[in-house]
Amino acid sequence: MLTLHSPLDMHVHLRQGDMLRLVAPHTARSFAAAVVMPNLAPPVTGAAQVLEYRQAILEAAGHPFEPLMTLFFREYSRAELEEAKPHIVGVKLYPAGMTTGSEAGLADMERAAPTLAHMEALDIPLLIHGEGCGFVMDREAAFLPVVERWSRDFPKLRIVLEHVTTAAGIALLERCGNLFATVTLHHLLITLDDVIGGLMRPHLFCKPVAKRPEDRAALREAALSHPRAFFGSDTAPHPVTAKEAPGCAAGIFSAPVALPALAALFEELGALDRLQAFVSDRACAAYRLAPPAREVTLRRRAWTVPERIGTVVPYLAGQTLNWMVD
Ligand SMILES: [Zn+2]
Repeated sequence: MLTLHSPLDMHVHLRQGDMLRLVAPHTARSFAAAVVMPNLAPPVTGAAQVLEYRQAILEAAGHPFEPLMTLFFREYSRAELEEAKPHIVGVKLYPAGMTTGSEAGLADMERAAPTLAHMEALDIPLLIHGEGCGFVMDREAAFLPVVERWSRDFPKLRIVLEHVTTAAGIALLERCGNLFATVTLHHLLITLDDVIGGLMRPHLFCKPVAKRPEDRAALREAALSHPRAFFGSDTAPHPVTAKEAPGCAAGIFSAPVALPALAALFEELGALDRLQAFVSDRACAAYRLAPPAREVTLRRRAWTVPERIGTVVPYLAGQTLNWMVD
């Protein structure tokens, strides 16, 4: 048995409407709170929209659960950010066109500076989908110089490199004291080989794409030990018709398996005692959060991940896991 205190998922896509009602209970069952991404249609860009979305999540959650809300990055005035600040934990920046729902993202990084200055002054963290243009395997590396420059130009701004996938991204944590990173479950488990090395596996296709074994090794090391790396699943459901399609949507629905699969991995790495830090303590320190007190217990009990949850194929479908959320 393993009891986690206020486990947190610092990067989730809960979607809207029927999909929200289907997936939110899976996050809320395992986590005391989660950072909710704002890439809806239309994106979440104001305090009123934040509050409306938060209410919809609370109604869908079905468990005691705190949604930690974010705004979608655009050019904001100081007054707009001041109005939103009591209701959000950060602002999420998507470079235009990099992933699902990022069409309204930022096309010219140079235009971000005034808004970043307001965020720094108001102490609002910046969350970044850190990919630039270029060859798909190199997009994260291509964006890291922008992150490094912002970290230097805005030294009091806390910056979170979301779903870090590369050893270079982890190395940047050493050079930037105000930089943090979320690490997903799937990037700790798979490499690109698992996605396209044999038969193509659409349910493992995500953005940023899984990288090389040496990148995965760096992510694992950071998950075990780095004080500024913490868990963000990037759970991102799509209906099976959008995944098993000629143009396969990017995203992995990992919420139903996140804690059991993390427990299995940390146990395999001989580090079960560090799971609490990865799934809660370091994130609390980074975001200066006092999350709702909630204990979530994992038991050693084998179960098979369902092939379908509603219209969605979950990560690790059909596989047997040896830990179960009580
Ligand atoms: Zn995401």
